[in-house]
Amino acid sequence: MKPRNRFEKAVAASNGKLTALSPKAVEWAVSNVIVHIAFRTSGHNCTCGDCGAKFDHKGKGKTVCCPHCGHRLQVRDTLKRKEVQSAYFSSLEVVDGLQVQRVFLLRAVCRKGMMLKTSCMEVCRLWLNAEGKMAVTSRARTLGWYVDSFNWCTGIDLKILSEVHWVISDTYVYPRYKVLPELRRNGMRGRLPDDCHPARLMKALLTDSRIETMMKSKDLQAVAYFVSRPLDLDTCWQSYKVAARHHYRPSDYGLWCDTVRLLEQCEKDIHNAKYVCPIDLKAAHDNWLDKRNKAAEKRRSQEQMLRAKAKETDFYREKSRYFGIVISDDDIEISVLDSIEAFQAEGSSLHHCVFQCEYYAKVDSVILSAHDRQGNRIETVEFSLSQGKVIQSRGLCNSNTEYHDRIVGLVNANAYRFLEARTPA
Ligand SMILES: [Zn+2]
Repeated sequence: MKPRNRFEKAVAASNGKLTALSPKAVEWAVSNVIVHIAFRTSGHNCTCGDCGAKFDHKGKGKTVCCPHCGHRLQVRDTLKRKEVQSAYFSSLEVVDGLQVQRVFLLRAVCRKGMMLKTSCMEVCRLWLNAEGKMAVTSRARTLGWYVDSFNWCTGIDLKILSEVHWVISDTYVYPRYKVLPELRRNGMRGRLPDDCHPARLMKALLTDSRIETMMKSKDLQAVAYFVSRPLDLDTCWQSYKVAARHHYRPSDYGLWCDTVRLLEQCEKDIHNAKYVCPIDLKAAHDNWLDKRNKAAEKRRSQEQMLRAKAKETDFYREKSRYFGIVISDDDIEISVLDSIEAFQAEGSSLHHCVFQCEYYAKVDSVILSAHDRQGNRIETVEFSLSQGKVIQSRGLCNSNTEYHDRIVGLVNANAYRFLEARTPA
């Protein structure tokens, strides 16, 4: 790709000036980025993946120190003779007033009886200027099963910044890094946050004063969380400032941001330390979640009641002629539900949908409630006027009770009373 503007021209010029990665950086990557293993067979015969020498090791520990080369190794119980690993890592450098994150692919091959073999290839470079403007120089991609397949024969040239470059550049950074004076001024010195995209971090530090504030106060956990979640930062920034003033640092920023959002939905003051600095974050989160859900439930049922009230006149006109019907035997009494409120109470105490599904508005049905002599609800009965019989009867959570057949039989035996009431003489 040809450079399209002055910035890209500067990037293309600086791109040619970069030198090979220092051997010390490669050495760091080999010891920190890949997993060093010991092949173990039949209980205690171990082979060091680094120096290839054999030694004996019994025990259940997951790591072991090689007696020959002294490296700490992870024990693998396997019959494999070879293990190949690949991992990306980065270095941060400065060229001609431009910041660059160089991304390398490290490949390591452990083979029994051989020294560990490693090779290191540069894949792409993410460039930033002091204003946070970005460009990428990269090897060409090839079509392949994996998205990060590169043609190693091509040079590292100016390319369009794509998702792949963002994904592969989310890596470990060689700790001896160099950054622009603007980045140092904004707090990028010393240890970098764990699990934080280096280029995103640098861009945020150059363009967002809020990240700069967090970085300068050494709240690395917050930096790592908010750099990749700008929307959360917009929502929670004011609350974060309040919490920081009270020296409050949540153990889990994801949970904390959720709690702030819940507080906002519960119409609580999210600038109040009482709410945004809970001692037990998990308990506070669960408490506000519960409150939010209950409020939503209440709002929903109010809306349903309003809808029901709109149909109340029709309900009384159509159904009031059946209100007097009470069917009973020695233990059970079955009566017609005679108001919208009665439908709501029936549905909420038996946990079924007689109210939500607007059974009061069904033209063809009369709904009855069966209860015992003490007034405990047993089942809800739907009687069809056109069919002249019970079409369903449901107890708690739509299950049948031991009285089911008795209730259905009783109502069916009294079906004539509904038909009489329907067509008065
Ligand atoms: Zn060894």
